Amino acid sequence: MWQEPWQAGNRDRLLKHLADHAEHPWDIVIAGGGITGAGIAREAARRGLKVLLVDRQDFAWGTSSRSSKMVHGGLRYIASGDIKTTMHSVAERERLMKEAPGLVDQMGYLMAHYKGGFPGPFVFNVLLRIYDFFAGKRYRKFHKRHDFENLSPLINEHDLLGGTQFADAVTDDSRLVIRVLREAQKDGATAINYMGVDSLIKEKGRVIGAQLKDAETGQLISVNAKVVINATGAWGDELRGEVTTERHIRPARGSHIVVPSWRLPVAQAYTAMHPDDKRPIFIFPWEGRT
Ligand SMILES: Cc1cc2nc3c(=O)[nH]c(=O)nc-3n(C[C@H](O)[C@H](O)[C@H](O)COP(=O)(O)OP(=O)(O)OC[C@H]3O[C@@H](n4cnc5c(N)ncnc54)[C@H](O)[C@@H]3O)c2cc1C
Repeated sequence: MWQEPWQAGNRDRLLKHLADHAEHPWDIVIAGGGITGAGIAREAARRGLKVLLVDRQDFAWGTSSRSSKMVHGGLRYIASGDIKTTMHSVAERERLMKEAPGLVDQMGYLMAHYKGGFPGPFVFNVLLRIYDFFAGKRYRKFHKRHDFENLSPLINEHDLLGGTQFADAVTDDSRLVIRVLREAQKDGATAINYMGVDSLIKEKGRVIGAQLKDAETGQLISVNAKVVINATGAWGDELRGEVTTERHIRPARGSHIVVPSWRLPVAQAYTAMHPDDKRPIFIFPWEGRT
């Protein structure tokens, strides 16, 4: 049921559509309107399946609007030996930049090398050779100390050998979700926000639908489905708890510190290791902030 999604009265139309659909099972009901749910909805709808996606908050309310905005090719997976994942991710990155310019764009990355530091220029260059090989392009460039200082004027110069420049991509993660969702809707998917999956409906041990809860009115609505997909991300165990006691998620936290760009001006993303525990840190420009 394609309609311009953000028109006044759209939610009422969607609720009516849900009610009209009550007698017919959906092929797929997806709980969660982050990038995972949106992606599944898009792939299923374009294959002609009848798809209903619901999110109990706004679309992209969860992790999918709070990521570090990087569409990366998984450079670190090469180091851990997972070459296949890197190959696949680099190909996807290149494809997204080609197909969605303005939404997924190239961003330069800088990595400084210090005397005795890891990874040194040679090792890093070997990793980037593989990375660039998968992309079919040469993004990497080593800059000697003086040139690198020009590229990153605030760099600590003590024991600096130089630095490497390479490339990955950046996106606006919530816009990406909305774009994917709109494509799903154009292919016939129905997407409703502020509508949570409250519980699963089961018959003879099989899930045959879901009980939805309208976050605005508290109204409960039952929908039948051949398949219910749990795409609720970090909240996955809540819904999984309806069918098993197993827990798979141990929520962890990632932190972003946002400062005005005049406090820490960077023209490209900067990769550094935390001085105490060597965790990777990214410093990147974002909407006039760092
Ligand atoms: C700090 C941080 C930085 C990251 N940076 C990057 C990065 O730079 N690049 C990258 O590719 N990845 C990054 N990631 C990973 C990426 O953000 C996640 O893999 C991705 O957003 C997960 O999407 P999702 O759709 O699975 O989950 P979410 O986006 O969290 O979506 C789950 C949705 O389910 C909804 N929901 C929950 N329960 C219910 C229910 N019962 N009924 C209906 N809806 C429900 C929630 O409201 C939410 O909207 C980062 C992650 C973190 C934590």
